[in-house]
Amino acid sequence: KNGRIGGDESRIHVFVRLRPMAKKEKEAGSRCCVKIVNKKDRLKGRHFSFDASFPDSTTQHEVYTTTTAELVEEVLQGRNGSVFCYGATGAGKTYTMLGTLENPGVMVLAIKDLFTSIRQRSFDGNHVVQLSYLEVYNETVRDLLSPGRPLVLREDKQGIVAAGITQYRAYSTDEVMALLQRGNQNRTTEPTRANETSSRSHAILQVVVEYRVKDALMNIVNRVGKLSLIDLAGSERALATDQRTLRSLEGANINRSLLALSSCINALVEGKKHIPYRNSKLTQLLKDSLGGACNTVMIANISPSNLSFGETQNTLHWAYRAKEI
Ligand code: ADP
Ligand code: MG
Repeated sequence: KNGRIGGDESRIHVFVRLRPMAKKEKEAGSRCCVKIVNKKDRLKGRHFSFDASFPDSTTQHEVYTTTTAELVEEVLQGRNGSVFCYGATGAGKTYTMLGTLENPGVMVLAIKDLFTSIRQRSFDGNHVVQLSYLEVYNETVRDLLSPGRPLVLREDKQGIVAAGITQYRAYSTDEVMALLQRGNQNRTTEPTRANETSSRSHAILQVVVEYRVKDALMNIVNRVGKLSLIDLAGSERALATDQRTLRSLEGANINRSLLALSSCINALVEGKKHIPYRNSKLTQLLKDSLGGACNTVMIANISPSNLSFGETQNTLHWAYRAKEI
């Protein structure tokens, strides 16, 4: 377990969060198959190392501070960033990103921190914070703050945007948690389990901060920083489709975004010039927030249970690979 390493231009920072054993898992008689150890410990069995690994006792606040606080600060300097939660269904992605009223997650803590920082700045009074919250499901983009017809992506001077998306003008954190929880309830569910979010739905919160600063010649210039916080679809589907190439059209489409994200990250790992952002809706939306001069953070969520051993191993492999960037 070590700290977040800064100053390293275009590296992806990769973290792992182990969640507590669930009641169901305990009742099923499962054992814990993951151990977080110190760098100095002697290692037995398969092991990986990350920028930091969070044991199941880690608070939401500690996760936020270690993974995302720095990105929030840099968004206020005009540097874009993105934070992803990756892992199998049930591994703790939504808990990490959204959290609960008592234990708000990264999305809420980031917005709270953003407002605090803005208030502390001497050149305050000229910041505009806009939130949009959208879903990519089956390669269809929907507005989670104002559900309705699918949105079309188009390119404008701000990059690729979903045409007609609700831009929520936020003034304080108080409303934000309620807003995001409502948005989360608008995520697509499986027809068979109507109150459970589909494991194939990606939720993306984009926070755009626009502000004016004086440049060296004392001219007033507009700056924009964008932070994207992403609760990805369950990674088990992406891994399954790799083997079963001929799946239903739905299956193929759903995974397209996750597979495209993997391809983009691979291309970044390999230092390729061409990054295939165009291959999916998710990667198009994140084009200006992934790689290059952006800060990218991956949080791999895992369950401690031996019943999820395969998924955990896949998640750790993938996360370890992303670290090479
Ligand atoms: P995912 O979004 O990856 O499918 P969830 O975030 O919904 O998984 O987590 C599955 C269950 O485990 C939820 O009931 C959630 O509240 C719980 N959980 C996940 N992570 C934690 C944690 N760090 N502490 C306590 N409960 C957690
Ligand atoms: Mg979830």
